[in-house]
Amino acid sequence: MMIDLTNKVALVTGGSRGIGAAICQQLAHAGASISLTYASDKRSAERCATNVRAAGRKCIITKTAVSLSQNVNSVVRNTLKEFGRIDILVNNAGVWKAGEIGKMTEQQWDETLDINLKGTFLFCNAIAPVMRKQRWGRIINIASTAGQRGEARYSHYAASKAGMIAFTKSVAVELAPFNINANCIAPGWVDTDMTADALRGVRRKRIESGIPRGKVATPDDIAGAALFLASNLADHIIGTTISVNGGGVLI
Ligand code: NAD
Repeated sequence: MMIDLTNKVALVTGGSRGIGAAICQQLAHAGASISLTYASDKRSAERCATNVRAAGRKCIITKTAVSLSQNVNSVVRNTLKEFGRIDILVNNAGVWKAGEIGKMTEQQWDETLDINLKGTFLFCNAIAPVMRKQRWGRIINIASTAGQRGEARYSHYAASKAGMIAFTKSVAVELAPFNINANCIAPGWVDTDMTADALRGVRRKRIESGIPRGKVATPDDIAGAALFLASNLADHIIGTTISVNGGGVLI
């Protein structure tokens, strides 16, 4: 069975670059129209939209602070105005900033939890009624290995991602009767702007030696799992977390 998302509409947060942009491309190539949000980098968002249109699909872009409900409600409204439906929601926008316990400021904690976890809640809360009415929907939340095993010096980030995993399991049960599947993807190390500094020079070799597959993921490695979860191949998958880490979480 081929994956066919013709006539489906996907809303991808943080779709301007990195993993989010790769997800937009793969969903568009499978036939979906795309509504993507970005935080500040309009040029990257426009580049991603151009690539989606080159694949023959429609794309709208909206600057959105994902932790503000007015922003979230307005991007949902705009997407519905443009496309009339939202079939696939990908909560991908996120930040990863170091903060040692004992030194972390309340502001650092709040920023990470607000963007990663509250943003996911706001989008799910706004779009669940739309998907329920359609009697079809896919929610794909981009978590992290940090949410599965913790991450020293990133406890706020790990807590936000573990929160996403538990949140997803909970809403998955509420939404499954409406033919709406909610699941997470937990990437390990991925080559994006987020990790560019951490993966520079000799540190990259050390990190790769801790991954059984011996390499850091590309954004497309993660997007493949999203494409699968968005498709009918994943009809019976509810509330799970797909680990995409080259085996890194096992050792
Ligand atoms: P990235 O920094 O390249 O992209 C992050 C995206 O989030 C950007 O598009 C940005 O616009 C958006 N964003 C950030 N803050 C925002 C805000 N306040 N409001 C709205 N949007 C905001 O990073 P990436 O590696 O592509 O990360 C995508 C997701 O994957 C994140 O949730 C991240 O936690 C997760 N992840 C990444 C890795 C990795 O190694 N890169 C590993 C595990 C999980």
